[in-house]
Amino acid sequence: MSDDEVEQHVLTRVLDGRWSTQTRELMRQFGTDRLDLNDAWADSWQGWHCPCCQRLKGEIARLTVEGVLLCRIDMHHDHLTELAKAMFRAAGDQDLPDEVRKRRARARSAAASLIERFAPTLICEDCNNADADMKAALGSEVDRHFSFSPAEIATFIRPAPNCSHDIDLAAGRATWQKARPAFEDRVAFTRLMVERVDAGSHDVEAGPSAFGMNRTDPTMLYDLASRAAGARSRLGKMVDLLSARSRSTHGNQSNRGGRPQRKVVPPTADDFRGICTRNAASAPWASSGEDWRCEICERSKFEICRKSNKGGWTAAIQYLQRFDDEIDPENQVRRSREHGGPILLGAHHRYSVCQDCRHVVTEAIKLVPGTDEHCFRPADLRALSGEVSPHRLHAVAPEAIRDAVATNADWIAAVRDYWAHRQEAIHLSCDVRIAVTKGWPPMEARRLVFEAYLDRHPDTDRDLGRMIWLLGEGERLAD
Ligand SMILES: [Zn+2]
Ligand SMILES: [Zn+2]
Repeated sequence: MSDDEVEQHVLTRVLDGRWSTQTRELMRQFGTDRLDLNDAWADSWQGWHCPCCQRLKGEIARLTVEGVLLCRIDMHHDHLTELAKAMFRAAGDQDLPDEVRKRRARARSAAASLIERFAPTLICEDCNNADADMKAALGSEVDRHFSFSPAEIATFIRPAPNCSHDIDLAAGRATWQKARPAFEDRVAFTRLMVERVDAGSHDVEAGPSAFGMNRTDPTMLYDLASRAAGARSRLGKMVDLLSARSRSTHGNQSNRGGRPQRKVVPPTADDFRGICTRNAASAPWASSGEDWRCEICERSKFEICRKSNKGGWTAAIQYLQRFDDEIDPENQVRRSREHGGPILLGAHHRYSVCQDCRHVVTEAIKLVPGTDEHCFRPADLRALSGEVSPHRLHAVAPEAIRDAVATNADWIAAVRDYWAHRQEAIHLSCDVRIAVTKGWPPMEARRLVFEAYLDRHPDTDRDLGRMIWLLGEGERLAD
């Protein structure tokens, strides 16, 4: 769709994006064709104003020294809840039975809402930066778990249209002093809640949620539409596709190549023991042995520990998916009728990587709108990571990531086709199982599902062989 068509569409009437008249007008006004517009900006309507600085979007947008127009809104969080999470984690309950752990997890999420001083709030990026800048300026005067609320930020910023805020240090100090007693009271309350929750005083029992319950109009409309459109419609990807059409990532500053690297600090033996204890609650970490190595960069658990900007330690193991080529001759022939690309994939497996190799994928998703986590093969990630060193983020240039995604178009299409095929086959075999549950003999159940399939896809040949093949694929892929 052209920008005008997107703007007039029923689904985007109250949204914003690089296509909106307002954005296009701003780019003309600032004389640039480079735009950095994020999802939160695209998801809020064009008349939105920041609750801190009261500026409208047209006053928030500003030009960077590099000539990029910034249109950014951020979700501002109270970091006190992070302190609570860290305290809960320190208690550790990996030795408890599953059911008790679940009850405790429910108590923790309920407690979190009583701990935070303000709810997560959308504010403009300048106001969000002002919170960080004021805390940096106050240094050790202010508790590092303290966050200024939106109303408190408003007391020390000096907003002006189309530029970042000046901050008033004396006003910020006064606001912190005023908030301090209530903040310290919350910290004391957090300690008390952590003790009580860890003692089991707030456990919440709940049964499993019943399959098929919680029907709503949107879920029913979605089921009808996805049945009618078929597995290859990408109906479940509408939000991603709209985001890809709306946001713009020129001047994305994260992981910029050539940034001076800080001195590498390896963890001490004590640091490493602390990291391992903290990570015991993470399933990928706990299920990887001491001799684990990242499948991409081959670094050990110890070598992936990295000092974060805030001074804490970052170390995590995460999962990605790898795919096998389709080698079964019948599958190849039947599937190439649906997918004309040069690559056909037949199965997927999980593999584990370090947080820094996973970060390359996250960067790709940020840099190239519409990209998902399956955009790279292990070999692509290895090539992108280049020279790898312990305790350090991989230095990958954004341009190299953009190029690698563009080069992988056939691969990305093959992954997409694999998921569509898998979904279609599994849905059909589920339909057969549901019919059997309702009392139909297996052969009859298959025939019924086949007839319903033909009704939905009138162009399909009456090919019972394809149906039986698809059902077999459903069983295989569900495994
Ligand atoms: Zn603001
Ligand atoms: Zn790695």
